[in-house]
Amino acid sequence: MEGELPLSPTDRTQLRRLRERGRTDRADLYAVLDAGLICHLGVVIDGTPVVLPTGYGRSGDTLLLHGSSANRSLASADGQDICVTVTHLDGLVCARSVFHHSINYRSAMVFGRARLVTDDEERLAALQVITEQLVPGRWAATRGPTGKELAATAVLALPLAESSVKVRTGPPGDDEEDYALNVWAGVLPAALMFGAAEPDPRLRPDVATPQHIRALAGRARGAASDTAVTSPVGARGD
Ligand SMILES: Cc1cc2nc3c(=O)[nH]c(=O)nc-3n(C[C@H](O)[C@H](O)[C@H](O)COP(=O)(O)OP(=O)(O)OC[C@H]3O[C@@H](n4cnc5c(N)ncnc54)[C@H](O)[C@@H]3O)c2cc1C
Repeated sequence: MEGELPLSPTDRTQLRRLRERGRTDRADLYAVLDAGLICHLGVVIDGTPVVLPTGYGRSGDTLLLHGSSANRSLASADGQDICVTVTHLDGLVCARSVFHHSINYRSAMVFGRARLVTDDEERLAALQVITEQLVPGRWAATRGPTGKELAATAVLALPLAESSVKVRTGPPGDDEEDYALNVWAGVLPAALMFGAAEPDPRLRPDVATPQHIRALAGRARGAASDTAVTSPVGARGD
């Protein structure tokens, strides 16, 4: 059942450095994933590591990725061990020393064996999840995929069985003697902002901007304050 699996059951997901920034609660993993818009898919193709930025969605304890059925990274990932990361930049941390400059962030890494979804019903459900991750309310407001469009789309499923979450918040952690320096220090908060909606020049004049677009326009997406995660302040930038 959702939320009951341990987050990091394996050796490769154990944080080694700055472990106090690690999260062990599955709810923290969901919070980081659900607040994101894009992930990075890491897969080895013919002996070369490839990292692909792409959209995604979460359905329970499965991460879903999609792309063209000609997408080499998605096809190569089928049956392979892959790694997917999701990162939120929450602030630039300016310390008194260059060394202690840092970044406030929330990030998740998911390892696992990927599976190309072949069942059309499952793929359709996955595409709905991915669409709703980007623009909640969009699926019901648009024309669904045709059989041809569905055939042109590959969907990859990755179980959220082996994951880690790391979070940094708070001010810089300078060396004690540096606090007396005449150097500005602090945090420059950062968040992803949507601008005002720009109607397509070919939009029918009688089509108004729908509520699900107005709900996003001009707002920050997935900012740290929207999530349940908090963290002790660490000393180093990573
Ligand atoms: C936006 C951002 C900027 C960063 N900038 C830097 C930088 O400039 N320099 C730097 O050294 N580090 C940076 N980090 C931290 C970096 O991601 C690593 O956590 C850190 O470098 C430790 O790496 P390691 O190989 O020693 O990790 P280890 O602790 O050995 O990693 C072991 C396991 O811990 C987990 N893990 C490690 N890091 C993360 C993470 N960030 N999120 C989720 N799980 C994780 C993974 O499961 C990994 O397999 C940054 C992180 C973010 C999100």
